[in-house]
Amino acid sequence: MAKRDFYEVLGVSRDADEKALKSAYRKMAMKYHPDRNPGDAEAEASFKEVNEAYDTLKDDQKRAAYDRFGHAAFENGGFGGGGAGHGADFHSTMSDIFEEFFGMGGGRRGSGRERGADLRYNLEITLEEAFSGKTVEIEVPTSVTCETCSGSGAKPGSSPTACRTCGGAGRVRAAQGFFTLERTCPSCQGRGQVISDPCTSCGGAGRTTQERTLSVNIPAGIEDGTRIRLAGEGEAGLRGGPAGDLYIFLSLKPHDLFQRDGADLYCRVPISMTTATLGGQFDVPTVDGSTSRVKVPEGTQAGKQFRLRGKGMPIMRSSQHGDMYIQVTVETPTNLTKRQRELLAEFEQESSGENHPESAGFFSKVKDFIDNLGA
Ligand SMILES: [Zn+2]
Ligand SMILES: [Zn+2]
Repeated sequence: MAKRDFYEVLGVSRDADEKALKSAYRKMAMKYHPDRNPGDAEAEASFKEVNEAYDTLKDDQKRAAYDRFGHAAFENGGFGGGGAGHGADFHSTMSDIFEEFFGMGGGRRGSGRERGADLRYNLEITLEEAFSGKTVEIEVPTSVTCETCSGSGAKPGSSPTACRTCGGAGRVRAAQGFFTLERTCPSCQGRGQVISDPCTSCGGAGRTTQERTLSVNIPAGIEDGTRIRLAGEGEAGLRGGPAGDLYIFLSLKPHDLFQRDGADLYCRVPISMTTATLGGQFDVPTVDGSTSRVKVPEGTQAGKQFRLRGKGMPIMRSSQHGDMYIQVTVETPTNLTKRQRELLAEFEQESSGENHPESAGFFSKVKDFIDNLGA
């Protein structure tokens, strides 16, 4: 029943370009074409699926929406409640439109329909997951339309009756001097109806609590703090009202090695004083799981940055990647042996301003500064 991922349907990667999509579509459409598979219902279904996938992905805007929200991008008010079917969704969407058009407002009056609450779901993913993108299954505790009474709140076979206090208007009037005051009916709280025989499954609320599994499409390159809206996947409405929305707040777990800045990654690597001085090389892991070699030239200073082009995060809706920057720190050796001390002392005696132009320059500026003070 779960809808297959469009990229999977076409058998292409998430960053497939227009050409790759088109050729994948041609291949699949030929394979499942009804002319080639007469009377094969499964092939026909696949043919439809392939067409739908291609229709969506060939359109830049639709593709962007799909990358962000998955199938939810094209469903409105879709209750996940299994057999509820699309009739119910269609009904609630239509009613929304009518309410908006005719300014019935709030959905509280008349039928007592009430929109379900929006839900928030916090989802933490790793940097590696954000790098490759993935489909995450999440369990959402939510209230859904009661199956027993289809959301009416009334026991099957019975139906809500018009409120006798207000005659179904939801409001009562009271004359007070010259004025007529109108207020919400206290008997039915403005619904205009009372449920004399409440549904036993939901106690008359029209909804019950259930755990639902939703699959959420996390596109490669997604940023920390992204909010994904799944329309209609929030709490079910009251008495057949429209469902609320589900918001997924996405955060990235801090990574041990890499810091992220947009599409670029940063990695600090400590190297020894001798490697920095004499030159050398080291391997760094990259977020795609491979390694890259960094060559350290002779005389590398602390804080020097090396760029590994294209080794950063994917840039959404493009086939490009950011870069990875390796920042080296030079580690001062500690716990020296006597012999090491002697070698360094000897080195110190041999060295001159030529070896340390930066500090030589700095101390000559200090000298000028003090001389000027005295003048
Ligand atoms: Zn019920
Ligand atoms: Zn009433």
